[in-house]
Amino acid sequence: MRSHLLNDLTAEHYRRSVTEGVERVAAKLATTDRPFTGVTVDALSPRIDGIDLDRPLYDTTAVLDELEDVYLRDAVYFHHPRYLAHLNCPVVIPAVLGEAVLSAVNSSLDTWDQSAGGTLIERKLIDWTTARIGFGEAADGVFTSGGTQSNLQALLLAREEAKADELADLRILASDISHFSVQKSAKLLGLGPDAVISVPVGADKRMQTVALARELERCKRDGLVPMAVVATAGTTDFGSIDPLPEIAGLCEQYGVWMHVDAAYGCGLLASLRHRDRIAGIERADSVTVDYHKSFFQPVSSSAVLVRDAATLRHATYHAEYLNPRRMVQERIPNQVDKSLQTTRRFDALKLWMTLRTMGADGIGELFDEVCELAADGWRLLAADPRYDVVVEPSLSTLVFRYVPAAVTDPAEIDRANLYARKALFASGDAVVAGTKVGGRHYLKFTLLNPETTTADITAVLDLIAGHAEQYLGESLDRAS
Ligand SMILES: *Cc1c(COP(=O)(O)O)cnc(C)c1O
Repeated sequence: MRSHLLNDLTAEHYRRSVTEGVERVAAKLATTDRPFTGVTVDALSPRIDGIDLDRPLYDTTAVLDELEDVYLRDAVYFHHPRYLAHLNCPVVIPAVLGEAVLSAVNSSLDTWDQSAGGTLIERKLIDWTTARIGFGEAADGVFTSGGTQSNLQALLLAREEAKADELADLRILASDISHFSVQKSAKLLGLGPDAVISVPVGADKRMQTVALARELERCKRDGLVPMAVVATAGTTDFGSIDPLPEIAGLCEQYGVWMHVDAAYGCGLLASLRHRDRIAGIERADSVTVDYHKSFFQPVSSSAVLVRDAATLRHATYHAEYLNPRRMVQERIPNQVDKSLQTTRRFDALKLWMTLRTMGADGIGELFDEVCELAADGWRLLAADPRYDVVVEPSLSTLVFRYVPAAVTDPAEIDRANLYARKALFASGDAVVAGTKVGGRHYLKFTLLNPETTTADITAVLDLIAGHAEQYLGESLDRAS
């Protein structure tokens, strides 16, 4: 069994195993003609249930054959141009190479003595990101597992910086379409059930700053302590960007921590043509970025950045066995001092390989392309009488609904759209997402694949219309 340990004696076995796996995936990528096979839970479950984990196959080739059956054949493939659903990007090859390297070397980024250069590489990428944001010299941050954790950590810092006698008095202000991790964070941070004040958005799906000002004033009057305003730079549902400069102005006026959740919109930090859309982000106290959304990085790759490095001390604890206090004096860099995690992947390496191979402009160019594709898609939808489209995209998301002229019952239209989404998923021809707008069911394209074309968008819209019409036709038959 020692032949399976990765070490000096097994380098050849390692090379052969990984190459065999890479060959399989490469063959898969080359031949997938649909983003999904449409497999059902019921069809797939017995295949996985039928495997006895206490009876190993012992042979890499056999294990890969089995993997084909339980995973590779029916996985959802984000690289396919007709995967248009969630905030998942196709990944760039330099990052995948980085992933292979980082898991083989297996550095852990909690302490210098478990990573050495890895710590310095991560720090350099943090500095690179804070410079792109426009933070000053005092900025810092740390890689995290994702936007959820980044938001949690940012709000932890905000809570600790806020001056309140009672946790129950603290309030977080966020738009009513901010990410649900804001709510979860409030709960994890021990705030009360009413801690998150929902600020309405306008027809453009951006936070209404008049309403924000009103809520801040109300907090003041009621003796409540606003601990943070969360501005979303790229809402998950619409890609809409809250008015950052106005929100920054209000945060300064009321002395409130400004957090910008740019999990999605962070791609604009590399953009060549649309960087101005997130102007004002440099006035935040903390920022969430998800490189695994708009920097074309494999999951996980995310970071939380802060304007003032000193605020990260709220996440610092010292353990004698790991990061004793004296190491701070000895100037030994231990990233665990800034992180909610202890053992932590060297995800930063993927971004490093990407920037060293493609440059930031290479990433920005890809993100610009999907933003422009979305603008084209919006024009198609706006001109298409079969569809109602919600808002002109600020990033790369389109939210729309099939609205047949002959049907007036909105509940029936809801059902037709829900049916179309399900039928499309079952066919595997394309994958789209859905959401609710004003209580009604809508469909959503999150466009993150530069290989997707307007012809794909047109084709998928025709498929959706076909499924919806089929539903409505059948429901007419049912009624008669
Ligand atoms: C995706 C998303 C998150 C959560 O990020 P994860 O990486 O999925 O944890 C937070 N905020 C926004 C706006 C997002 O789109």
